[in-house]
Amino acid sequence: MESQEPRTLQEAINYFADGENCLKYLVPRVFPNGVPTCPTCGSTKLGFLKNQLRWQCSVRHPKRQFSVKVGTIFEDSPLGLDKWLPAMWLILNCKNGISSLEIHRALGVTQKTAWFMLHRIRLAQQGKNGGKLSGEVEIDETFIGGKARNMHKSKRARVITGTGGKDKTVVMGMLERGGNVRAMVVDGRRKKQLQSNIHEHVEAGAAIFTDELRSYDGLEDSFKHQVINHAVEYANGNVHTNGMENFWSLVKRQLHGTYISVEPFHLFRYIDEQAFRFNNRKMTDAERFDIGVREIVGKRLTYAELIGQTGETETIH
Ligand SMILES: [Zn+2]
Repeated sequence: MESQEPRTLQEAINYFADGENCLKYLVPRVFPNGVPTCPTCGSTKLGFLKNQLRWQCSVRHPKRQFSVKVGTIFEDSPLGLDKWLPAMWLILNCKNGISSLEIHRALGVTQKTAWFMLHRIRLAQQGKNGGKLSGEVEIDETFIGGKARNMHKSKRARVITGTGGKDKTVVMGMLERGGNVRAMVVDGRRKKQLQSNIHEHVEAGAAIFTDELRSYDGLEDSFKHQVINHAVEYANGNVHTNGMENFWSLVKRQLHGTYISVEPFHLFRYIDEQAFRFNNRKMTDAERFDIGVREIVGKRLTYAELIGQTGETETIH
């Protein structure tokens, strides 16, 4: 049995097959100050039930027993950590993403379960925006879409709403050169929407670079705004959006190569996943996994929330 913290997928599978290893890895990362804490009363005076790998609070109240899954994206899941943690390893470290079919094959869970795991793990990677982007910031939007031909006709009618190019969804991105990217699904390319996102995510006074889209007009009041006219050239000195273009190509490779069909209301989860990997691109797999695991706390996602208000089931091809 592995005892060192894992550095590769193979080591992760071996290491997390052991329940005590799972605890050894998770306890310092998910509990406040790394100390097991009763989720009901906050006490750290606990007994440890070795056979069940659970704790029991020494204060008298209901729900005294709890596991390391409590308060994390794993809570209430009947799946073992021996499945969850290798799944996280795969998702956080596969550069082009991984499909529910691949998780199903690799870990022996059903594809439906794999799909739910993927989405819970993606949820854990959302947000955490920190401060505003500053320095030199590239801003761009792209259309992602559609895949209408893979859908049944009645479904197509429900799923596809006209934004931008008919069956496409608009995604907006902002990249601090040498730093992090933020990307989000937006309603369209109207000035008000794009510019309110820029004000929310970019430090006033920063140098920003966009293409000639009219929706970016007027930003020079708050930013050092420079425009590259893509009809004429791709770059003029440091005036370009090549970093954003690079990010879009990663996103599109992921979507086209791996996921085959993504419905617009799930798209933001895939975008967030790619942004997480991009923003942590200079790390080893073990470091990226460590960061990802620390994000699993305080985030829950029910199946109903995941599939949206419509009660629609997932698309699996
Ligand atoms: Zn307690």
